Amino acid sequence: MAKVVNRMHPDFATQSYVVEAFKGVALVTRQFARNLFAKKDIVTVQYPEDRRPYTPRFRGKHRLMLRDDKSVRCVACMLCATACPANCITIVAKEIDDPTIEKAPASFDIDLLKCIYCGFCEEACPCDAIRLDSGVHAIPSFTRRDQKAGVINLLSLGGVSIASQGGEHRAHSHEGTAHGRSSGH
Ligand code: SF4
Ligand code: SF4
Repeated sequence: MAKVVNRMHPDFATQSYVVEAFKGVALVTRQFARNLFAKKDIVTVQYPEDRRPYTPRFRGKHRLMLRDDKSVRCVACMLCATACPANCITIVAKEIDDPTIEKAPASFDIDLLKCIYCGFCEEACPCDAIRLDSGVHAIPSFTRRDQKAGVINLLSLGGVSIASQGGEHRAHSHEGTAHGRSSGH
């Protein structure tokens, strides 16, 4: 059944908008003074002086892990790049002299603008070579190119892991989160 809505019939003062405009100015002025002097109920965070803490579930940027001898753990098997749903990992492999390790990455790039921080790369890696637990927020940049995290950048957040290659994950690693859960950019 249709509902009858009674239409308002504003008087001349309301229709002229003069009174309403002054009411609006008074409201804004009152809130401005309240924010300036009383500083109550301000929802705006004064970034970068004040920063909201991230949720404990926040992963942060990727990091590449190292072996005890400080060589990169990645063996360029491409499993992470294959598992990546955003297709944002680009690895170029190279052969190395060590006969126990077939390959290493000549380059390892992650396009952070495409990455959805799902963690599939970390799950797919059999070597504990890539982790998504730095707690570091990707830094804003002026160009797309600057959002490509290369091997040097990824290693700078990394650490040593002694998980057996192709085997146990995390349980035997030296460390957990690289930088903790801060909201620092
Ligand atoms: S977190 Fe997900 S989207 Fe980002 S690089 Fe890893 S697999 Fe790809
Ligand atoms: S899955 Fe691990 S070892 Fe394989 S290419 Fe990716 S990071 Fe390197």
